[in-house]
Amino acid sequence: MQQWAKGVYVPSIIFLLLCISSCSTSYGTGKTNTVQNETTGAKPKNVIFLIGDGMGLPQITGAMYMNNNKTVFERFKNIGFHKSYSADNLVTDSAAGATAFASGVKTDNGYLGMDAHKKSFPTILEMAETKGMATGLVVTCSMTHATPAAYYAHIDGRTDKEGIALQMLNSNVDLFIGGGENAFIHRTDGRDLVKELTDKGYVINDITHLPIEDLDMGTKKNIGFFTADDEPLPVTEGRNYAIPAADKALRFLDNRSPEGFFIMIEGSQIDWGGHANDANYVVTELHEFEKVIAEALDFAEKDGNTLVIVTADHETGGFAVNPGSKLNHIDVAFTTKEHTAMMIPVFASGPGAELFRGIYENTDIFFKMKSLMSLE
Ligand code: ZN
Ligand code: MG
Repeated sequence: MQQWAKGVYVPSIIFLLLCISSCSTSYGTGKTNTVQNETTGAKPKNVIFLIGDGMGLPQITGAMYMNNNKTVFERFKNIGFHKSYSADNLVTDSAAGATAFASGVKTDNGYLGMDAHKKSFPTILEMAETKGMATGLVVTCSMTHATPAAYYAHIDGRTDKEGIALQMLNSNVDLFIGGGENAFIHRTDGRDLVKELTDKGYVINDITHLPIEDLDMGTKKNIGFFTADDEPLPVTEGRNYAIPAADKALRFLDNRSPEGFFIMIEGSQIDWGGHANDANYVVTELHEFEKVIAEALDFAEKDGNTLVIVTADHETGGFAVNPGSKLNHIDVAFTTKEHTAMMIPVFASGPGAELFRGIYENTDIFFKMKSLMSLE
């Protein structure tokens, strides 16, 4: 179970040569004009961006056949694929993958909020804050884990939890829900970042031992919930906050700003099931994430002015639904305990959703969102 923490690869010379020939055009710039030409003109007020970490098409397929042939993804009509590779490896890690979505740059594995030359780029969450939109991050890992960190941190080492936690002080995210309180309070520099966040105007709640449904979120201040001291438990061991947290978060952010809201919600542990080569871990996490997606779609359909996008940073495990599988009893195999380079599906619903059809770079997701949100 420590496999997921490795994250940084040393590419072989052959791999490097492959990357030089195939990845050299990867720095995503100048995509905005194309996006504007393609759009029908509909723009959403709110954007809900959902990342199933490690959720490739095989995982979605397996979860569907383990759910009596039903999947929430059948509710989407606009579907595409992104190319998930990073700047230094055909197989991305979650830091480079999330940075592509958050800042529109291909970067080296392990880097957050900066390109491969360590130049920092603003994130879509920071840009949304500047525009006056309300913003949120809801995850089932620690707040300093690579995927959420890519939205507020700019650092060349994803494993520096304390350094990443410090950068949360520079973020004005309106709401966060996730684990990892230890990196904020038990620090080598002796600082108490929960107190510092409180001094900045946050209401910080520790819900490690409380159900989130019972908490009052009726505050005008920014708000944060720590759901675990370190990493939250898997669903199979009792973690159950993701669905009510998503529901609470959407209601909290709605009407908070006339400019609308941006939220990133992550099903973080689908990836950890892949690293563990544990099909039940993968499927149970994905089934929970599908219910979170259903919450988002229900909200968006009722609201009529909200774009929902679901994708993954990469596939994990080389998962396959093998011969011998039957409905609700699949026979699976894994090719690796690491990530793979497979193209990743993108599902979109709501104003502007048609822009997400086709095959494009993972960085294009940033440019499509930026254009639809009219961000500078
Ligand atoms: Zn992973
Ligand atoms: Mg992640």
